Amino acid sequence: MKITNIITYPINVGSGSQLVVKIETDAGIYGWGASGLSGRELAVVGAIEHYRPLLIGKNPMQIGAIWQDLYRGQYFEGGRVLTAAISAIDIALYDIKGKALNVPVYELLGGKQRDYIPCFASVRFATYEELIERSLYFVKNGWDMLRLAPAEFEKELKKDHRFEPRESISIIADWLTKLRKKVGSSVTIGIDYHTRLTIPETYSFMKRMPRGTIDFIEEPIRDENPEAYEALRKMIDIPFAIGEEFSSKWQFLPFLERNITQYARIDVCNVGGITESMKVASLAEAHYIDLMPHNPLGPICTAATIHVAAACPNFSWLEEVNSGAHTSTNDLKYYPIQPKLEGARYPVLDTPGLGVDLDEEYIKNQEFKPVEIPRLSRDDGSLNNW
Ligand SMILES: [Mg+2]
Repeated sequence: MKITNIITYPINVGSGSQLVVKIETDAGIYGWGASGLSGRELAVVGAIEHYRPLLIGKNPMQIGAIWQDLYRGQYFEGGRVLTAAISAIDIALYDIKGKALNVPVYELLGGKQRDYIPCFASVRFATYEELIERSLYFVKNGWDMLRLAPAEFEKELKKDHRFEPRESISIIADWLTKLRKKVGSSVTIGIDYHTRLTIPETYSFMKRMPRGTIDFIEEPIRDENPEAYEALRKMIDIPFAIGEEFSSKWQFLPFLERNITQYARIDVCNVGGITESMKVASLAEAHYIDLMPHNPLGPICTAATIHVAAACPNFSWLEEVNSGAHTSTNDLKYYPIQPKLEGARYPVLDTPGLGVDLDEEYIKNQEFKPVEIPRLSRDDGSLNNW
């Protein structure tokens, strides 16, 4: 079998953007992959154009060798754009290999170790009322883990998003303290501060809440510098969930080896695909750290992550954004075949390959508009991370 073509489709689904990639072969088997570099899809399209002549004519079954060639086959190795491109290609090659051997992808990874993939609900909220109403809705519907995504800066519809960290932590700490009383102690609660805080702001945030209010904090500060997280690690005693922006096992390495993070927020569509995800999973397993995969994109990312999660012993929850109160990334017009949520979990199915298919005729006719993330600004006019 030989690769004959690779096609990139940047698409708008719901309010977001996605880049899906199709690889075709001379056997008539094709595979779908997705890149996770949201908002910079056209850069990844460019990277894949560079990779095209390296892929045409290659045997798609040699996934590991192709990964090495794409990652190391230029003097300037790696980086987010290249590994987002490699991720999409790698996932598509696994889809092809599974279909060619008539097995689900997890069979290529050692077989399944669980029958269901537990998910957490991503709960986005701008007001206290939204936080309580949405959280209680999820708990009532069987979700045992709520990962909160505060957007209190959107509570008044303003042209510019104003974000003052000290004001935010005071409001959110108060709301979360009340939320814990309402949902009781059996629900796991985490919060994603989306790299908006500094070390002392994170310290103050945690000290504003009674012990036991939340169970972990996700990425309160930016993640370029493991030493900064180590400093924060020594100041507060709550587990961290870090890693959704990491683009290789080497970026995960200090966070795992030095026990800085307690959950690995791996993104299969950014870290280097299924090949690199299994390596990160093994490194994490050696430190008794569970994967808690990032999954904001769409059904290809969901499906690829389900196969990785099925084949790993060290797994906690998969992020689920299509849980009724966040967004819609899985439009059936684009994805007529996709994983289907059953309550708060995905069943591990035995469909050959990934178990996802797209309506290519439909997506060919859609115009693509890049989506820029909002900008948050402080009162003094300076930028804060979104
Ligand atoms: Mg996050």
